[in-house]
Amino acid sequence: METETMIEIRHAALVTNNDRDEVVRDATIQVKDGKIAYAGPGKDAPEFSAERVIDAHGNIVMPGFANMHTHVPMNLFRSYADDLDLMTWLNTRIFPAEDKLTKESAYWASMAAMCELAAAGVVAFNEMYFFVDSIARAARESGLRGVLSRAVVTPAPGVGERMLAESKELFEKYNGQGRLKVFLSPHAQYTVNNGMLEQIAQMAEELGTGVHMHVSETRGEHETCMKEQGMTPIELCRKTGLLGVPFYAAHCVWVSEHDMELMAEFGATVLSCPKSNLKLASGIAPLEKMMRKGVRVTLGTDGAASNNKLSMWEEMTYASFLQKGTTYDPKAMPAAQTLKLATRYGAEALGLDSGIVEAGKDADLVMIDTAGIRYTPDYDDVSLLVYAGSDADVCMTMVGGDVIYEDGKFAFADIGEVKAKLAEYAEIMKKI
Ligand SMILES: [Zn+2]
Repeated sequence: METETMIEIRHAALVTNNDRDEVVRDATIQVKDGKIAYAGPGKDAPEFSAERVIDAHGNIVMPGFANMHTHVPMNLFRSYADDLDLMTWLNTRIFPAEDKLTKESAYWASMAAMCELAAAGVVAFNEMYFFVDSIARAARESGLRGVLSRAVVTPAPGVGERMLAESKELFEKYNGQGRLKVFLSPHAQYTVNNGMLEQIAQMAEELGTGVHMHVSETRGEHETCMKEQGMTPIELCRKTGLLGVPFYAAHCVWVSEHDMELMAEFGATVLSCPKSNLKLASGIAPLEKMMRKGVRVTLGTDGAASNNKLSMWEEMTYASFLQKGTTYDPKAMPAAQTLKLATRYGAEALGLDSGIVEAGKDADLVMIDTAGIRYTPDYDDVSLLVYAGSDADVCMTMVGGDVIYEDGKFAFADIGEVKAKLAEYAEIMKKI
């Protein structure tokens, strides 16, 4: 695949994702220098000297997904340890396996995740892990937009300080470079002491960046924090200054009414991972309630070891159905709103100029093959995407005007090589 600077997509069903949820039939989308130059009815499209014309044949074109909570090197741990609660899973299986990771294996595992994300229509991911150089290398090669962060923990004196210093170096090295940004990341309230939370809040303020953290994922985390600190994890985040910077809170399953009010007041973003929360038996985040209180809610998959798919399609279905099922209200999280949680709201939260398909925005688009039987009949394209769509329907992913995935082929990776490398590194994990 070559990189063309001027691409015209014709005869598409365009899901704009704009405030009016407009869908345009027989639409043309013109892409120039990474931006959308025109998106609207084909009959009104201006003259355009495209280097490449793509006939969509009625396929859907929509904004790409923003996967708001990932640990991409964990693609190496898919199906490695299942059917355990969070703490047992982490302490007995994941932490020992992570000790065996290397720069190279983390790179190849990240590359596997880049392939999985791109092939499923993701254009941006919000990452938290270590081996950030390996992740940055894979992200850069893939062309995906990535917000990286080095997870900080404080198991012994000096360790957190060293990790925070490393986070600052990574910020200076990668933030604003190409399609990368860098946030700071205290791993969680139960792995980071209060003093370090304060230091991270201060550093985020100084650097003018965001903070990505696991928050109130399990009942145990919530109850222990209440007992030991006399407040909820979110209240502790306010006390330590974390809510005062752009704050990205993964999970938020066990949140109080007051927590929701604080998150709305401070403009925090919730990164909900409904499938991971179910698999680890953590519970169901009250997304509908949070949104009614004015909290910005977005969706993510979490890592491949706790999901086990990096599929925003499945997150949309689970998120919507769980809210309907737990509120006994079929109007909860309707299709158009669910699509926005998975695309536009995430893009906006990360400060990206995409998530809507309209002139002037970055060309972060995906095309959905509607030839399959599940797209017939076609009463409502958005309903089809959210309630009937799947990863397999994505036939093209474009980031900043670059086609990074098309019809099973990746512009950035030899999928056979990626699979062979993962199989090789898995042999090491099997010996633990
Ligand atoms: Zn996570």
